Amino acid sequence: MSILFRNARVVDATHHDPDARLDVRVEDGRISEIGADLPVRGAEVVDVAGRVLMPGLIDCHVHVMASMVNLGLNAKLPNAFALFRAMPILRGMIERGFTSVRDAGGADYALAQCVAEGLIVGPRLFTSGKALSQTGGHGDFRARMEYGSPDSCPCAQYGAIGRIVDGVDELRRAIRQEIRQGATQIKIMASGGVSSPTDPIGNLQFSEEEIKAAVAEARSHQTYVMAHAYTAQAISRAVSLGVRTIEHGNLVDDDAAALMAKMGAFAVPTLITYVAMRDEGAEQGYPLESQKKNVTVLEQGLDSLRIYQKHNVKMAYGSDLLGSMHQRQSEELQLRAQVYSPYEVILQATSIAAEVLNMQGQLGVIAPGAIADILIVEGDPTIDLAVLGEHGRHIPVVMKDGKFVKRNGEITAPA
Ligand code: ZN
Ligand code: ZN
Repeated sequence: MSILFRNARVVDATHHDPDARLDVRVEDGRISEIGADLPVRGAEVVDVAGRVLMPGLIDCHVHVMASMVNLGLNAKLPNAFALFRAMPILRGMIERGFTSVRDAGGADYALAQCVAEGLIVGPRLFTSGKALSQTGGHGDFRARMEYGSPDSCPCAQYGAIGRIVDGVDELRRAIRQEIRQGATQIKIMASGGVSSPTDPIGNLQFSEEEIKAAVAEARSHQTYVMAHAYTAQAISRAVSLGVRTIEHGNLVDDDAAALMAKMGAFAVPTLITYVAMRDEGAEQGYPLESQKKNVTVLEQGLDSLRIYQKHNVKMAYGSDLLGSMHQRQSEELQLRAQVYSPYEVILQATSIAAEVLNMQGQLGVIAPGAIADILIVEGDPTIDLAVLGEHGRHIPVVMKDGKFVKRNGEITAPA
């Protein structure tokens, strides 16, 4: 199948002339040609009429299996429930123009394949399998007064975002299992967290030996470690041990940001989730302890962006929403626009995010040879990112892998 997008204003890392109009040809799932006045050569012609044509958005931190805000309860959902409740979450992401997402714990290879085979509608998934947590860490959702062994955790359930592992040997085995089962990167919990009941945010999690082993194991499999970390201390420790992407990172300081820049590590802030929790957490059953912790990280959110910006830390898009708050996925764009220019934020959600996925040149760009993940947008996102919000209202067309998954504002794919 061949499609010719006619008369498009292309916006990506290499195209930002608001007056240029180009044609983009898509063949066999890839972009084959970009230029002025390309010949039709039997293609279906789509008139873009001077609107913006840009790469599909990429979210580098989601939990598509987290259909409940209380992750402890989510982990106990019967598998059928957990799976069917994930389907509207995946579909919503496509409606909003996200064509690839990196799942930071919960989704597995089977789910990624279901999407790839077109059995369910959703973005291309880069899955971590279960996030790895130490006992009492951010992936341990047992309440303080629960005394069962870690094995009593419902970690194998679809709805569990994490599993508990302690010690270098267990960690290596778990990583080998996750990668054997199709994880594309490894997620570790390297500091305390907001959603978990017994670990203050200031805690360091996993020993240096364990993090070092995780990094070595991931590298042996030609991949990398992404780490949940809030404080400057946790960030510096993880990055100096070889962790490649820092998730959240709200409590960063100058030294930690400078180290990240020096090591080439990426920041993946997820500011919208703290705003959403503040607004809706209580009514959605978010535990009181978590609501209190949320205040700490929310307050420093925008300040952390300024620190990353000052030190030129590479930054990719993340949202980290849970339950029905998923519908606020695009609001992170506008939060970041309080510090970065709209164009810089677009790159964070396209070409830089693709670099995080080790898919540079393949995703997040409109270039010959790239996978054809394409949006048509009404309005100018380089001036106002609101046109990428409102649940995709201004994104009438979403193409993924060279196929229309949304057209005339409606999802076209099955399910
Ligand atoms: Zn996290
Ligand atoms: Zn997360």
